[in-house]
Amino acid sequence: MNAIMMEPLVSSPRMAQKAICLYCGGSELQLAYRGVRDRLGFVPGEREFWQCQECGSLVLHPIPRWEEVASFYPPVYTFTYDLAEANSLKRRLTRWEYRAFYRPQYHGQANIVLRHLAHQPPPGRKLLDIGCGRGLRLLEFRARGWDVHGADFDSACVHYLRHTLGIPAVCADAASVGQHYPHHSFDLVTAFHLLEHLPDVSSVLAVGFDLLKPGGWLAIACPLADNPGLRLFGTHWCAVSEAPRHMTIPSRRGLILAAMNHGFQNPTVLPDHFFQCAATYALSAVPMANTTSAMARGFVGALTARLLGGIGLIGGLLARAIEITSGAAPSCGILLARKPAREAAPEVVS
Ligand SMILES: [Zn+2]
Repeated sequence: MNAIMMEPLVSSPRMAQKAICLYCGGSELQLAYRGVRDRLGFVPGEREFWQCQECGSLVLHPIPRWEEVASFYPPVYTFTYDLAEANSLKRRLTRWEYRAFYRPQYHGQANIVLRHLAHQPPPGRKLLDIGCGRGLRLLEFRARGWDVHGADFDSACVHYLRHTLGIPAVCADAASVGQHYPHHSFDLVTAFHLLEHLPDVSSVLAVGFDLLKPGGWLAIACPLADNPGLRLFGTHWCAVSEAPRHMTIPSRRGLILAAMNHGFQNPTVLPDHFFQCAATYALSAVPMANTTSAMARGFVGALTARLLGGIGLIGGLLARAIEITSGAAPSCGILLARKPAREAAPEVVS
């Protein structure tokens, strides 16, 4: 195992930057996974994940630059309810998937978040989802009475929210979304499976803190590094082989330290919905079931890939049950943290 103390990596000119943990700020990292290939085969090359010795989070090294990020994504990446270019059979398949898998998951994720702050929300409460994609999770929050807003860097998603779902939305990435709203605008800021895709983790935490009203809540869902599935599958763990689109995989401790360093109170990490946790195992065992690969096939190929993924999901549910009974960390978690109800009083220097 190589160790980085205060010395830079020098295996290539691009690695002249120093590896730093983006969660706790620690500078002592060890090589954890090398030879990591893009599971979608979209971005060529091999990469390395390094592990922070302070908090256990994994960090891609070197971290890609912001301007590189958009080029890492294939045209069809995440689940899309309305596949405009697909034939009617594939459209039917996506609708069935939505009812059987995605909607229960989004419904459950909204419940996990809202149960945690059940004593909180006043009438007219406002929610912003950063990296909202097609806004399907926002529908679950809207159904529970929230005034929902979305932000995504994909203009097609923003158009879909505004004109199909009737949800106000802005076209912005995590670094610039704060420019679109006044300070203290929202009661809840969410980011589902966004954080691990960013070269600057603190941008979401900082903008979340700024946009939340005093006493408001932040909810961030992401894969976790302290999960036994990662050790079992290694570089084939789908959260690892999603690099370079995944640039970090935080530990629970890393998430909590990052939230506290940004001023949040009482951070905690809850297990994500069991479908999401089980799917991480399924996609690691059956890589062809991912949305990009499956939807690139004809109807029969897509159906076969998704059915195999469904079998993998059953295995993933068993793995999740073992995690629960053994007390192991889930493969995906949701960080919940509260902005202090009152701004901290300035220090008086006498
Ligand atoms: Zn760390």
